[in-house]
Amino acid sequence: MNSTLYFSISSLIYTIVIAIIFFRKEKINNTENRIFQKSIVISIVSVVIELLIILAIKLENELLLHIILKSFNVCIFSWIALFGTYAFVVSHKESSVDYRKKYKILYLVYRILWIIVAIVICCLPIYLYQDLYSYGPSCEFLYMCCFALMAMMIIFLLQNLRNLLNKRYYPVILFVILMVIIGIIQKCFPEVLLVNWLFGFIILVMYFTIENPDLKMIEQLNIAKGQAEKANAAKTDFLSNMSHEIRTPLNAIVGFSQSLGDNESLSDEAKEQVKDILAASDNLLEIVNGILDISKIEANKLEIVNKEYSFKKIFNELVILTKSRIGEKPIELRTSMDPTIPPVLYGDYVRLKQIILNLLTNAAKYTKEGYIELKVSSVQKDDICRLIISVEDTGIGIAKEKIDKLFTKFERFDLEENITIEGTGLGLAITKKLVELMNGRIVVQSDYGFGSKFTVAIDQKIMAGVILEDSKTGVIPQVGNIAGKKVLVVDDNALNLKVASMLLKKYSLEVDTVSSGFECIEKWKQGNCYDLILMDDMMPKMSGGETLKQLKQDPAFQTPVVALTANAISGMREKYLSEGFDDYLAKPIDRTELDRVLEHYLKK
Ligand code: ADP
Repeated sequence: MNSTLYFSISSLIYTIVIAIIFFRKEKINNTENRIFQKSIVISIVSVVIELLIILAIKLENELLLHIILKSFNVCIFSWIALFGTYAFVVSHKESSVDYRKKYKILYLVYRILWIIVAIVICCLPIYLYQDLYSYGPSCEFLYMCCFALMAMMIIFLLQNLRNLLNKRYYPVILFVILMVIIGIIQKCFPEVLLVNWLFGFIILVMYFTIENPDLKMIEQLNIAKGQAEKANAAKTDFLSNMSHEIRTPLNAIVGFSQSLGDNESLSDEAKEQVKDILAASDNLLEIVNGILDISKIEANKLEIVNKEYSFKKIFNELVILTKSRIGEKPIELRTSMDPTIPPVLYGDYVRLKQIILNLLTNAAKYTKEGYIELKVSSVQKDDICRLIISVEDTGIGIAKEKIDKLFTKFERFDLEENITIEGTGLGLAITKKLVELMNGRIVVQSDYGFGSKFTVAIDQKIMAGVILEDSKTGVIPQVGNIAGKKVLVVDDNALNLKVASMLLKKYSLEVDTVSSGFECIEKWKQGNCYDLILMDDMMPKMSGGETLKQLKQDPAFQTPVVALTANAISGMREKYLSEGFDDYLAKPIDRTELDRVLEHYLKK
């Protein structure tokens, strides 16, 4: 009696401790958890009943003793039956997500059987043998049912033999093994009742293997994270495709509009309209690029590419761009740049320019009159130059309570007043992320109704004694005499071929076009020699990359091949260069970029 009492009390204590810890924690409402909760409750009730048996014996009340003994048997059966459903759930988890629906009828039958067994246990006679050990038909029926349940659990385990090392099977395996051992002990020492201790122990194992809410949460979080990552990857793919799809027609719009704009015979009104088309196309391209940028940043795909550059060049380009953004508005553009900034710095100048341009563009957008001031100062220490860039305007300003949301994507303020100002609410979100990626800081001060000041501080490395080539100092080479050189354009889209030919013919080049990689290879085999090939990548049946591979199999093929593609997602330049292309041109074709490519490959 004593030893049984110790076991029971100890199992009661640790089951209660687990119950307190478990029920206080935030839980996930899934089947295993619900079963676990119920098994804790039944286990506690079962130990309490076991202790009541001792009390009933002491009171020498026959009826009370019978009721308690039968209740105890019902508890034992209920716990094992419940654990049977647990074994079922864990072993069927992988086979079908919807197992609850699939096995609905089975569950119902199981529950009905459970109730019938409980009633039969209560109806059959039971006798007390010695101490806590009882016997009689009620107990024999209970053992029979427990054997059946154990057999069921063993079948589940055998069905999942390959996964048995998975820790979620540990409680089931342990239960089956310990149940057999306890059965043997019980046979030899009937007075030692260990079943409640076993329940408590299994609950403990369950808690520390899979039912611990923390572990469950982590597991669920990992699943959710995996799903989110998948969704994000799908989003990036979608954006990359969308970018391609939008850029292709945009290429035609920009190309033809530029060509129309060059036409001297056009009326002033028509020229104005062409300008508007180009401005709208630029806007659309900016939106596409903005969406691409934010998705790249969110997918951690945006890399900071450090190179040597001249800050003065960037500054001058920014001034020109801001002037065109201010347009006809009565706004004075004030600029000042610290003359001590070293001539050559090392950093991601493309992104740095994007950051400052975003701030200047906003200043131009949200200022009606007054001034915009771009001021760059620096603090230099050892080989680091801290650039302190401020953009101040006398625009509409930002209300204090909205400053917190300023850098959140898709947030735009004062929409009624700003209805005519185009924007997506992405600019500052991108700006802040870029500043952070470059280990810098951005702060904003604003006086609502009077103006704003954005200040960015970014460290760049000083490259002492380095002299830059022309292209990096910002001198765009004038395309020299390349007239008569032969260029082949490969693109499956007829409109794109038309745009490219039109642009290239302006340089008096001899332009040939084909609409597939096969035709391109054919041209080469026929002995046609070109000075340059502009090749689209995304073509049906044979991509630009594959075409290039085949061409390069011939050692005599030495023509430079430039990827001409609407695929403008991050890392594309590197991807194409690694595939063997000599250079990369994004659609819509930027004229300065085209100038650069033609100058580089045709002047040779
Ligand atoms: P967008 O300009 O495309 O709407 P941004 O992310 O660049 O998106 O800016 C978010 C919002 O912050 C803008 O819609 C505007 O309300 C406000 N804002 C940004 N810059 C300024 C500024 N210089 N002056 C006043 N408001 C600004």
